[in-house]
Amino acid sequence: MSVQMTASTVPTKYWHVLDDGRIQCDVCPRACKLRDGQRGLCFVRAREGDEVVLTTYGRSSGFCVDPIEKKPLNHFLPGTPVLSFGTAGCNLACRFCQNWDISKSRELDTLADAASPEGIAEAAAALGCSSVAFTYNDPVIFLEYAIDVSDACRERGIKAVAVTAGYICPEPRVEFYEHMDAANVDLKAFTERFYADTCAARLAPVLETLEYLKHETDVWFEITTLLIPGLNDSDDEIDRLTTWVVDRLGPDVPLHFTAFHPDYKLLDRPPTPPATLTRARSIALRNGVQYAYTGNVHDREGGSTFCPGCGTVVIERDWYRLGACRLTDDGRCERCGFAVAGVFAGPPGEWGPRRLPVRLAPA
Ligand code: SF4
Repeated sequence: MSVQMTASTVPTKYWHVLDDGRIQCDVCPRACKLRDGQRGLCFVRAREGDEVVLTTYGRSSGFCVDPIEKKPLNHFLPGTPVLSFGTAGCNLACRFCQNWDISKSRELDTLADAASPEGIAEAAAALGCSSVAFTYNDPVIFLEYAIDVSDACRERGIKAVAVTAGYICPEPRVEFYEHMDAANVDLKAFTERFYADTCAARLAPVLETLEYLKHETDVWFEITTLLIPGLNDSDDEIDRLTTWVVDRLGPDVPLHFTAFHPDYKLLDRPPTPPATLTRARSIALRNGVQYAYTGNVHDREGGSTFCPGCGTVVIERDWYRLGACRLTDDGRCERCGFAVAGVFAGPPGEWGPRRLPVRLAPA
């Protein structure tokens, strides 16, 4: 299939020429090897002549103002609104994808909204958003666009958030995260078997990204694991996953256990029972994770933040709705002074659980 060059096609730099004449994309571990006119698995990066281009620069599949807790990020400017958007395509192939209409889109018509980085930053500012989130599909595949949006936002004091599977090669990883203030990284399971069979990917590069974020950047990040009955929800797997997190990343990286619902190609599994999320949270807490959450369910205890110092509920949460906050403006427990890990700047915002779809004016 030949690549249609359009205004949204831009050159990229993470690729190299192979001996057989193909060009290998070096953005993610999938390492697509492309002949002229071919697209990578993500569909949005393609070979055009003697280079690899991004074909969806400046195109979006839609915008929405969400609570930051929906990313989910519970320790990053709590209660504030975030301008969320995505493009099309994805570099994983998860059989349970909950955004498959976007991530698996082969129709660039999905990208209805033209949106320049400046236009997005201006919209975020006008809407009172504290941050912009690259979400719905993985920003790794549209790295050049995400970076430019981040730069435009940061010039206006708006932060950039990546919602990602963490499936990225070491060299682009450095550049990508230099431009991010926060991330939620999916740790989809803790076995190579799950990654291979269910996502057509590998676990090891994701673990490398998590260690990189913790030990070599200042990016605030939290981890999400979607628990699927019978596939990644055993006590043993959750025990190994949470032990690894504490040993390799430390006890203060928040972990979110969220509920699966049957979608896309994984329709033969039941929705995750709330008890499974509670069980996973208990295992995490027992293994020393200080901030373990249940997600996509009403669970006041599993959704709230507890002070690791004295056990006080420092942020009450019910799904995306915040209750009482017992933190100082810089994130210390009002009762015992323990510094809760995260990015806090004053009292929590008051956005609440609202979701506000937004249409950007044509450029
Ligand atoms: S970013 Fe896309 S084209 Fe590049 S290796 Fe990954 S899936 Fe392939």
